Amino acid sequence: MKWRLGRSSGNVEDRRGMGPVGIGGLGLGGVVIVSIIALLLGKNPLDVIGQVADQSAMAPTQTGAAPVNDEDSQFVHAILGSTEDVWGNMFQKMGKTYPPPTLVLFTGAVASACGRASAAVGPFYCPNDQRVYLDTSFFQEMRAKLGGGGDFAEAYVIAHEVGHHIQVLTGTAEKIDQARQRGASMEGDNGLSVRMELQADCYAGVWANQAQQQNHWMESGDIEEALNTASAIGDDRLQNQAQGTVVPDSFTHGTSAQRVRWFRNGFDSGDVGHCDTFGARAL
Ligand SMILES: [Zn+2]
Repeated sequence: MKWRLGRSSGNVEDRRGMGPVGIGGLGLGGVVIVSIIALLLGKNPLDVIGQVADQSAMAPTQTGAAPVNDEDSQFVHAILGSTEDVWGNMFQKMGKTYPPPTLVLFTGAVASACGRASAAVGPFYCPNDQRVYLDTSFFQEMRAKLGGGGDFAEAYVIAHEVGHHIQVLTGTAEKIDQARQRGASMEGDNGLSVRMELQADCYAGVWANQAQQQNHWMESGDIEEALNTASAIGDDRLQNQAQGTVVPDSFTHGTSAQRVRWFRNGFDSGDVGHCDTFGARAL
């Protein structure tokens, strides 16, 4: 993709080269998100939660020269700027204003309102502070380990996290929380956790459609790239790689086929109305 055509966002906070700043408790939402990311990376969620929950207040420390305005940073600015333009437009059509999330770039570890996270957990969205956290080394890991990668696939990962922000703004995240408190099933490949993730995939597809109309930046192979990534990070594939058998009860993102299908739904329609991944599961 010709990502340089994207408008550079003013909402990127570059904390690379700093130690974790600030403290926060790891709420249930944080645990769920961390678990999802751990599974995405084929790691044991309990190990990762242990790392995240190891709270300590640390002053910002400079841990070496951090890159400034390098290509990774320019890329993230351009993709985030495009999500702002797309969602800003869509909210405007509904007579609303879009409050964009801040994207925090970090290296090593970061403190969020959902707890302290190490880069090992991969990109995540924290609903408590409405920030997307991203260590760009995840992109290298995608290329090396997850069988995905490429600039459009990386943009899709950012758009997926922004999709979780949209779920907070539309009230879906809150409804899911309430359903969880009522004892609704979160687990399994039809549970609400998976439905949330698939909706974020669908929103990423909607973004990709609208962004293409605005920027005309896609190149041949881009969609396949995103679909390959969606399929490479489906829970069934990850679990097969990790242990040789698929355990549907612990699915949190959906199978490869589900992820591909919902990204396509969003991309082909360009319409959030095609992202009702919950269906009959009344919220
Ligand atoms: Zn997600």
